[in-house]
Amino acid sequence: MGITSFQSLAGVTTSTDHPIQSHSTFGENEQIVKIMLSESSTFGEVINHDFSILEIDASKTYVVVYVSLTDIEWMDVMGFSYEILYENYAEMNRWDTNPALLRDFTSYAALTTQLQDIEDTYPDIAKLYDLGQSVQGRTIWGLKITDNPTVEEDEPEVRICGCHHGNELMSVELPLLLAWYLVDNYGSDPYIEGLVNDRETWIIPMVNPDGREANTRYNANGIDLNRDYGYMWDVYSDCYTQPETRAIRTHALDNNFVLSLSFHTSGDIVNYIWNYK
Ligand SMILES: [Zn+2]
Repeated sequence: MGITSFQSLAGVTTSTDHPIQSHSTFGENEQIVKIMLSESSTFGEVINHDFSILEIDASKTYVVVYVSLTDIEWMDVMGFSYEILYENYAEMNRWDTNPALLRDFTSYAALTTQLQDIEDTYPDIAKLYDLGQSVQGRTIWGLKITDNPTVEEDEPEVRICGCHHGNELMSVELPLLLAWYLVDNYGSDPYIEGLVNDRETWIIPMVNPDGREANTRYNANGIDLNRDYGYMWDVYSDCYTQPETRAIRTHALDNNFVLSLSFHTSGDIVNYIWNYK
């Protein structure tokens, strides 16, 4: 785990933590390959292609990337030497053969229950909002943590997002744990009490619930949501084409965020605006 990347502050920009050039259909053709860097030019070509990079060994003899079928075709054209390590994320993480590993992470249903539990337990400092629906009709939840949560107060607003990419499971857990930490410690920790009273913190742990349920990077239309924002997008021909990103945009325009973090899980890096390259 590792990734916090600053995402859109105004709803018109995006972080692009690990861009890829093309996308696959829902849950399909998302292989993990090891590309040998025997040719000195290969590394630069890999970087320029905007692969989603999972691993680079210290001596740069190989790089492990996440690819679509189109990427494979491109690598063949380029004459790369590569090896397919896994057919998909589930195989790589052994979720297919050991489903218990997958159950360690919070599903959409479990997330919904927990967020409702937070609101029920701490109604004075937490309110759950429906920010919009995913392609398949799941609710994109936004939990507002502040004193007087039903009132729009003149306080700095902060947004914490997780799971733009549905297969980055840990990116749900940290925003959710942060929510629990804030509400559980509100009554006993003056520092937390100050954070909650003097700010409005929005926690959106699962931007891409359909992708989470299908264990895919993409949403149910096969779109990489983190390439669907409105600043310097170059993967697709248009932006804000998906209900999930439109919900985040609307929410951003309705609020005045001074800070936003978007959690991902593809490297030990912190990206900050305007990190489209
Ligand atoms: Zn990601």
